[in-house]
Amino acid sequence: MKAMILPEFGAPLRLATVPVPKIGPNDVLLRVRATGVGLTVVIMTRVPGRVTSFPRIPGHEVAGEVVELGAEVAQVKVGDRVTCHFYLTCGVCHFCRSGRETLCPASPGNVGMACDGAYAEYMALPARNVVAIPRGVSDLDAAIAADAIATPYHACREEARIGPGDLVLIVGAGGGVGIHAVQMAKLSGGWVLAADITDDKLAAAKDSGADELIDVRRGDLVTQVAKVTGGRGVDAAIDFVGSRETLDGSLRSLARAGRLVIIGSRPTAAFGVDSSFTVDPRHVLGSMLEIHGSRYVTLTEIAQTLELLRQRRIRAIVSRTFPLEGAEEAHELLRQNALVGRAALILAS
Ligand SMILES: [Zn+2]
Repeated sequence: MKAMILPEFGAPLRLATVPVPKIGPNDVLLRVRATGVGLTVVIMTRVPGRVTSFPRIPGHEVAGEVVELGAEVAQVKVGDRVTCHFYLTCGVCHFCRSGRETLCPASPGNVGMACDGAYAEYMALPARNVVAIPRGVSDLDAAIAADAIATPYHACREEARIGPGDLVLIVGAGGGVGIHAVQMAKLSGGWVLAADITDDKLAAAKDSGADELIDVRRGDLVTQVAKVTGGRGVDAAIDFVGSRETLDGSLRSLARAGRLVIIGSRPTAAFGVDSSFTVDPRHVLGSMLEIHGSRYVTLTEIAQTLELLRQRRIRAIVSRTFPLEGAEEAHELLRQNALVGRAALILAS
């Protein structure tokens, strides 16, 4: 089969012909239809330890058709369309059993990093990881639902706890995940301030329903949020960028009892700068602030996100699609911060 492989750490992806993966008794084999391309994949190629062996096929935001089942698999059948959960988990630990599987201490890693992923014509996955795609949701939409849309679902609902009328700051609002967070925050009842740094990303955030745009090129984030909110600040700030500047600005933009949700991650190895920021405990205590790490989603949250797509209450924003061979070009555009919304690979059927 054709695959885009990461031959070694830090190298560009290249097209290769490799064997169709063999499956174990608890696995399924998918024919890949569409695969999302986002910063998570780009970053993992540059951070030591994320990819467990080389060559590796990246990609985890997948929609595919089940074409083969392991002997023990009963919950899906050949012909089903499915997407997948990004974390390889044990399924039996305290966290796996309490709906917090992304904290599984026995996890060997992630799909596309600790096992081969979806930049390929076929992909093997543990059956535990797959989620059925409902009729009426396209392959492309379902692929990016698995991360770019589901991640904001969890962040808005469980971490930011957005309710009707809440003021919500989305930092990095025009990116692949942020653009869906704008929609999800609106759907949760929030009044959304969308912050980003390019005209096209701000325009895309506006198209997705943002109530106020904050152009961070034009001045300090905190000052602009204060101006827009009449000095009050926001009830929740969700930071998809995760730099020292954005985290510091997001925390200082919170109103009393505000929630900062950290999603964006900028590993020093990939970005060359330390993103740690300073927290004044008196500020957190005095205003009863909350700081949340929001780590991906549960299997159930992927299913709920797919249902929102089926109901047409969320729109998947995919600005560019590429053939499989275009994966490295897509990665380069992401490195240049030149993509609005999500990019995806479409595999010929
Ligand atoms: Zn576990």
